[in-house]
Amino acid sequence: MSIAANIEEFKKLLPPGVELVAVSKFHPVEKIREAYNAGQREFGESRVQELLSKHLDLPSDIRWHFIGHLQTNKVKQLVGIPYLIESVDSLRLLEMIDIESGKKGIVSKVLMQVHVAEEDTKFGFYPDELLEFFKKGDHRNLKSTVICGIMGMATNTDDTAKVKNDFKRLHFIFQEISRQYGHELPYFTGLSMGMSGDWKIAVEEGANIVRIGSLIFGLRE
Ligand SMILES: *Cc1c(COP(=O)(O)O)cnc(C)c1O
Repeated sequence: MSIAANIEEFKKLLPPGVELVAVSKFHPVEKIREAYNAGQREFGESRVQELLSKHLDLPSDIRWHFIGHLQTNKVKQLVGIPYLIESVDSLRLLEMIDIESGKKGIVSKVLMQVHVAEEDTKFGFYPDELLEFFKKGDHRNLKSTVICGIMGMATNTDDTAKVKNDFKRLHFIFQEISRQYGHELPYFTGLSMGMSGDWKIAVEEGANIVRIGSLIFGLRE
């Protein structure tokens, strides 16, 4: 099937209110253009250089989501370009985004990445760590950054009960933060979870942003 058909089919399955981010990492601009011509505007990239170069080559109304691990020394280059940085995984990174956004006179929208999966290799705050961050009130010190929700990944496993439980935990943390600190976080609405292999479970568990790569673009080169 074509990319346009993949998007059309996928959107038929996606409940209203759930936003599709087409993860275009490692795919060439021609493929992104195909998706764009089919009406898709939200795209996900995981590398700074790749996002910056694609941003230059493609229409300016694309809303780029940065979804990869962001090194602090690349923040300066990146801020101001993406619509949303979904993968804030440390306080140092958050501070750096805030400082560099301030210098540029812009406001950056971010999601806090939460680590619930079993693998050690995945980045993100542990749930307790993130709750502690809000408890201490550190979010009130941000001047040029708006926290718009959380992002997370489930364990990479065929055990759907395990995956479901990971998403339940992410949803719970999202709700706890909303419940306790929502009055101070007017834009805290995004729960980004679910990829090609597990998005249905993620949506059942409350995701309102899904990040889909291979189901739309095929396998990455
Ligand atoms: C690559 C990636 C995706 C998309 O993965 P698919 O399995 O191709 O849908 C989603 N989220 C993150 C953080 C990724 O790195």
